[in-house]
Amino acid sequence: MTNYKINEFFETIQGEGQYTGTASIFIRLQGCPVGCSWCDTKHTWEVENDLQIPIQQVFAKTVETPQWASLSANEIVEHIKLQGYRSKHVVITGGEPAMYNLIEMCDALHAHGFSTQIETSGTFEIKVPAKTWVTVSPKINMAGGYKVLASSMARANEIKHPIARQSHVEELEELLNTAPVSEGTLIYLQPISQKIPATKLAIETCMEKNWRLSIQVHKYIGIA
Ligand code: SF4
Repeated sequence: MTNYKINEFFETIQGEGQYTGTASIFIRLQGCPVGCSWCDTKHTWEVENDLQIPIQQVFAKTVETPQWASLSANEIVEHIKLQGYRSKHVVITGGEPAMYNLIEMCDALHAHGFSTQIETSGTFEIKVPAKTWVTVSPKINMAGGYKVLASSMARANEIKHPIARQSHVEELEELLNTAPVSEGTLIYLQPISQKIPATKLAIETCMEKNWRLSIQVHKYIGIA
């Protein structure tokens, strides 16, 4: 039985990619060695054994902390019901969720009528059922030294790439050449930090390449 280390567990609207606008339950898992300098969830990087807390304290968090709770797949389903969440879509994020074998969790959620999605850097082998939607946001040449895996790119249902400048577009093109995606995979460019030059570049590149724009809707409407 797999136990999952959970840093956050909350319900909101998915603001990015294909599922934008979908009421979703987010499960943020603890642990990530990828080392992106601009990471906005650095509190999830380390797994400190003495920071384990009961799941009730995870639900009660009002600020981001590196504390986590351990739950099995069935306990995750139980707690979704206990919380009274209404969403039927579950987004598993991190940290780096692909460090975990997610098959048990996703199978349990599917058995209870939920759809599932993971958001991963693509640097770990992805272990999910076939019907889980896989979002790969490829983290290229980050400090942790992990490479984006060809198998992750091939498994992706969508690629979501944050960009601020032309070199970010070029690094994605290079990656797509060496680690191609499967037919039908959606490619999204996401302007970093809602900056106007980044947004303009993303729009122009999407028009040119017939890619899609992801604009972090949750940040525009002021929700988590
Ligand atoms: S992969 Fe995600 S969680 Fe890990 S360092 Fe990069 S942005 Fe942060």
